[in-house]
Amino acid sequence: MTNVPELFGTLVFNDKVMQQRLPKETYTALIETVNSGTALDPALANTIATVMKEWAIEHGATHFTHWFQPMTGITAEKHDSFITPVGNGTVIMNFSGKELIHGEPDASSFPSGGLRSTFEARGYTAWDPSSYAFIKDGALCIPTAFISYSGQVLDKKTPLLRSMKAVSRQAVRVLHAMGNTEVSRVTATVGPEQEYFLIDKDLWRKRKDLIFTGRTLFGARPPKGQELEDHYFGNIRPRVIAYMDDLDRELWKLGILAKTRHNEVAPAQHELAPIFTTVNVATDHNQLTMEVMKKVADRHNLVCLLHEKPFAGVNGSGKHNNWSISTDMGENLLNPGKDPENNDRFLLFLTAVIKAVDTHQDLLRLSVASAGNDHRLGANEAPPAIISMFLGGELTGILESRCNGTAYKGKKGNKMQVAESIPEFLSDTTDRNRTSPFAFTGNKFEFRSLGSAFNIACSNVMLNTAVADVLSEFADCLEQSKDVEKDVRKLIKDTYNAHKRIVFNGNNYSDAWVKEAEKRGLLNLKTTPEALPYYSREENLAMFARHNVYTGEEIKAREEILLENYCKVINIEALTMIDMAGKQIIPACIAYMNSLVESIRNKDAINVPAETERDILARINPLVTAAYRANARLAEAAVKVKSIEPAAKQATAYHDVVFAAMQELRAACDELETLVPESVWPMPTYADLLFSV
Ligand code: ADP
Ligand code: MG
Repeated sequence: MTNVPELFGTLVFNDKVMQQRLPKETYTALIETVNSGTALDPALANTIATVMKEWAIEHGATHFTHWFQPMTGITAEKHDSFITPVGNGTVIMNFSGKELIHGEPDASSFPSGGLRSTFEARGYTAWDPSSYAFIKDGALCIPTAFISYSGQVLDKKTPLLRSMKAVSRQAVRVLHAMGNTEVSRVTATVGPEQEYFLIDKDLWRKRKDLIFTGRTLFGARPPKGQELEDHYFGNIRPRVIAYMDDLDRELWKLGILAKTRHNEVAPAQHELAPIFTTVNVATDHNQLTMEVMKKVADRHNLVCLLHEKPFAGVNGSGKHNNWSISTDMGENLLNPGKDPENNDRFLLFLTAVIKAVDTHQDLLRLSVASAGNDHRLGANEAPPAIISMFLGGELTGILESRCNGTAYKGKKGNKMQVAESIPEFLSDTTDRNRTSPFAFTGNKFEFRSLGSAFNIACSNVMLNTAVADVLSEFADCLEQSKDVEKDVRKLIKDTYNAHKRIVFNGNNYSDAWVKEAEKRGLLNLKTTPEALPYYSREENLAMFARHNVYTGEEIKAREEILLENYCKVINIEALTMIDMAGKQIIPACIAYMNSLVESIRNKDAINVPAETERDILARINPLVTAAYRANARLAEAAVKVKSIEPAAKQATAYHDVVFAAMQELRAACDELETLVPESVWPMPTYADLLFSV
């Protein structure tokens, strides 16, 4: 039996440890720094570093590292040991304040989108004291921001922290104007639900596509997929539960609030959800969670696939970003309370989000754009590429009646009793809508379009900044107002009226919605190359600059990095397919045809009819030719697009030319898979992979 409270956070230099170990003044000053967001007095850094080092050594650490989130999408670390020579052939363990707050990694090999040339190697990492240090792999990990020598952002944390500050500042202005003067800070909170697949490692080793790209590039549908929906919330198989148990323990040690675990819709698919926390910590924790998921899987001879679409024909994996904002008085500003129709403050913040999402559909859309996620969005398993919002009947009704100046006559939650012995409960006022990309779910919004492998920072930068921008307009108005109550009501009404086209409570998977959305003038950016160029739209550059989140240069760099990344991913996939088709699939099929020919020849010699062999041969032969030709065309396409410039044009070509050629090759090979014997097929099949654990 594990004593969870005792285990929880044992590898974290958390508030409790700091209170116990830091001198009182140092602790108070540190907390003050975190709360106010001001710089830490360097004099205190030495004390904190020494205490941290001692604690870390007691917990088995020999090294420290600044832990940061460059634009690679994963985290980065470079370990330095604590050893310092003292001159007589011995060492002591040392860690200075300077080493804690500031690092200078050679940053030349991290993507910068042209912000630096590779010879300008220097980058800086800077301690983020709002996220606790922790121990991983024998190293004290210090969460840090990562910027270039000239101060430009090269990571995902810096803009996130800036956007948190922006939304806090503007929300506080609005609250103060409304008379809530006791509030001094507003924090964006997030709970990210994480989907993943687990497959057997021995099978994984036999699939180059999984090894190189994280997804299967070939594979015919198995006889059974997810059509019975018998996996969702189904009982959890022993090998999986052993994994989940181990995973939860590792996460708890790291202070991660792992809460919910269950089987998902697709076979071999599962989900983990933590309890929400501030978006900065939630982001760090989600990055760590993904890393730990992979490591723990390895111990169980499993592989954890975080790719958005590991298998064609069965659901891919997403990440639901549950987002809200709350005050330092502990009030969730998106909590409707018992009487939403008369809760003007709630309705004002709600309409701020509505306007933000409508005005910045493009930013939300592109924040979830990647080669992997392109397979999900709009494929009737995840929200479409069209961004819209679900409010549910009650809130929509309330806002509509505000607009019409009528009283809201809607339903309240009903008392429900299912059977005599079961206690009564109040039903929710709105049902769920799982097809919506951006759904109000009671006291938070759930942004559902994120891909499972994503760093959640980007989507939250967009959300925080877009909402901050609307709130700053609201604050401008209310700070001037002579009748705040009246003007709040007017803002709610006018804002909703102007932006209600973004609200859609129906089925987002239907074709009718695609047409309707077009009529409403909503964006439908189907692919990554289509979406990314919206990043540097004039209005977006201006907004990010207004709130000091990104400079124009930084945005252009990000756009460039993401476009390049798209091209690289497709290129790796293409090369992997060429390799697998050319070296595995086509040779295996030729060998099989050979055995058919031999059988035909032998049978002919003794006058036994060989119709079956002839028939199979006649079906396979043209398909092998088709695969061979498609492979040659793909190889040609992959070379042709290499020289296209600029990045946006190249990305489009990767999609239209290379990706299209990949589909053709796959179609031929997948059909071949259904025609040749299992013993001949050179890699584990979908049935093997999906039903092996
Ligand atoms: P649902 O089943 O509707 O998705 P859950 O209660 O399971 O709702 O919550 C899903 C996620 O939302 C969890 O990670 C939860 O901690 C998070 N969450 C709940 N309240 C908030 C909030 N105020 N801000 C951000 N996330 C929240
Ligand atoms: Mg949910």
